[in-house]
Amino acid sequence: MLVVGLTGGIGAGKSTAAARFAERGAAVVDVDAIGREVLAPGGRAERGVVEVFGPGILNADGRIDRGKVAAEVFGRPDRLSALEAVSHPAINAELNSRLQELADGGEAEVVVLDMAVLAESRLGQLESGRGYTKVVVVEAPVEVRLARLLERGLSEEQARARMASQATDSQRRALADHVIVNDAGPEDLAAAVDELWAELTVE
Ligand code: ADP
Repeated sequence: MLVVGLTGGIGAGKSTAAARFAERGAAVVDVDAIGREVLAPGGRAERGVVEVFGPGILNADGRIDRGKVAAEVFGRPDRLSALEAVSHPAINAELNSRLQELADGGEAEVVVLDMAVLAESRLGQLESGRGYTKVVVVEAPVEVRLARLLERGLSEEQARARMASQATDSQRRALADHVIVNDAGPEDLAAAVDELWAELTVE
């Protein structure tokens, strides 16, 4: 079972590429969603995160308010590190059990980890050896990404701030085994994914 880490800067088209991989037959694991789940009631990082940030990050109903957590860490690298020190091991533990289940199931030839945060951290790198062994990066020029994000309802300021908080194209590219350039239409992206899929499944 090949495990691929799929990443890209916001608006590059990572999620759209992941959906195409799923159509081809990949098992897609949404790592960003696991990041939300570990903070939900009973989640693996719930208690630890409340210990770090205090009850001020809770909603009236006692659940972690992810918006409040985001506000706590935005632009504060020390607070972000404190959050990640709790959340990333929890995400990796959950990821490890999902990958174990997929391996036991024996059906998935290729697993794609759809993850915005790859170049920035050790997310998806697992001590069990089950983590990703190949990295696929989806790339698009900043102006193209901005236009897509504005269409998706973000303001230009929000979009640029999100981009600035992420790794750069060259940092991602340095880790990439394969780069998909998504600067044309959706059909071109689908064709690029199909081509890569053919390559990945013969290896
Ligand atoms: P990411 O997951 O990298 O942030 P998405 O896959 O969500 O990016 O894509 C961002 C937006 O751009 C979405 O609304 C998506 O439908 C659109 N999009 C992605 N690729 C293309 C493309 N090649 N042409 C036009 N729109 C695209």
